[in-house]
Amino acid sequence: MLRLPRQLVCDPAARRILRALRARGHIAYLVGGCVRDQLLGRLPKDWDIATSASPDEVEALFPHTLGVGKAFGVILVIEGKRPFEVATFRGESEYSDGRHPDRVHFCDPEEDARRRDFTINALFYDPETECVLDFVGGVADIEAGRLRTVGVPDERFAEDRLRLLRAVRFAARTGFALEADTAAAIRRLAAQATSVAVERQAEELGRMLAEGSARAAFGLLEETGLLEHVLPEVALFRGVEQPPQFHPEGDVWQHTLLMLGHLDETIRRSLDAVGETPFAKDGLLYFPARADRLALAWATLLHDLGKPATIAYEDRIRFNNHDRVGARLATRLLRRLRQSNHLVESVHELVARHMRFPVLPEMREAKRRRFLQEPLFPLHLELHRLDCLGSHGQLDVYEYALPAWEEELRRPPVVRPPLSGHDLMALGYPAGPRLGKMLDALRDAALEGEATTPEEARAWILRTFPPAAGEN
Ligand code: ATP
Ligand code: MG
Repeated sequence: MLRLPRQLVCDPAARRILRALRARGHIAYLVGGCVRDQLLGRLPKDWDIATSASPDEVEALFPHTLGVGKAFGVILVIEGKRPFEVATFRGESEYSDGRHPDRVHFCDPEEDARRRDFTINALFYDPETECVLDFVGGVADIEAGRLRTVGVPDERFAEDRLRLLRAVRFAARTGFALEADTAAAIRRLAAQATSVAVERQAEELGRMLAEGSARAAFGLLEETGLLEHVLPEVALFRGVEQPPQFHPEGDVWQHTLLMLGHLDETIRRSLDAVGETPFAKDGLLYFPARADRLALAWATLLHDLGKPATIAYEDRIRFNNHDRVGARLATRLLRRLRQSNHLVESVHELVARHMRFPVLPEMREAKRRRFLQEPLFPLHLELHRLDCLGSHGQLDVYEYALPAWEEELRRPPVVRPPLSGHDLMALGYPAGPRLGKMLDALRDAALEGEATTPEEARAWILRTFPPAAGEN
């Protein structure tokens, strides 16, 4: 039995909003995620408010508002420089298309609780009386560790089919079991999850992947039958055998799930990290930017996407070119999900190069330094680490590369060769394609420390590219 914290807290800015609403005679409570997360002993992310005040009344009451969701009764109130969603109690009766409510009407708190998706998301908290208002049995479900729809599961999923994916996301995140009728309804209706706008599907999938519970979420997607409809390309991983000497863990699906479990650790430690760019501490990488976590997570899920199509039984099981094939398929998949160019391109790079990564220690120094200087390098490195942890467990390349990257960060970057094309022409070399090759070679020489100053570079060029007759 879970022990509920005796007292829930309320963010001071949210409390000012609640008090202002109450002072005008309105009902106003905290609602949804912030109540659920606190009952689970977790720190809430956002503080959503539900009220009897109409959207017009909310707008009139606060000086800084944005009417982004006004048609659905949601006003964004800016308080203490932060946005808070203030939603009028509403019911959403008819969903003739299974995606959008045809009408919303304003109502009382109980009806508002009944239109919410899961009982654990339908709780209100009144910080003035310190009471949780529970119209749907959500507290008992939290105590029992159970995810259950508000009302009859088939009806609620048919109303809005995105809830099929939301069920998995919330069950994975809380570690709760899907209640039996809820689970059975998901299995029955799984094929319909794809009728929701792909952007909404992708948003849920991205959150499953990049918020620290990807392993549980993908296990559940598979068990409920959602995976083969929503991500059929990934469902193909099941049963794709791998050579046991490299992959003692089993098939491509087992390997991917293991990697997602390690990814969850990387993401959880990164969620509290501050800054913009990846950094290393005590031998581990941290990714403070959400965009990096999302790219790493999709790349982890999709890095072996080329394996089902390339499997060949030669001297042993081989997946020739699966990195390049996989990168192409990953791009196609993420474009289908209408993901940003930045995400698509990053994942493409990560997947395309995941097999070349292990040769890093043998690379020529200039090539290695160029790789170490790439902005995506820490993501390549972490993907490689997860790949190893999800199979043979040997981290020697990682242990070589992490300090090399840290050292590279401390070195002054060599972005340009120490001499320009003009400098070379001043030395007597004619303009032309050869000049470009000379500049590339010079940059490599600078990266390898052979010719870093202009004087050294001049001597190096004259030695390496002796001027032909007539030149100089
Ligand atoms: P998170 O911390 O993941 O954001 P949350 O509970 O705030 O969790 P949101 O997706 O932000 O989740 O939604 C806010 C609330 O709105 C939910 O708690 C739920 O009560 C309600 N809700 C959101 N989407 C739906 C939906 N598709 N059907 C019914 N209720 C929904
Ligand atoms: Mg939320």
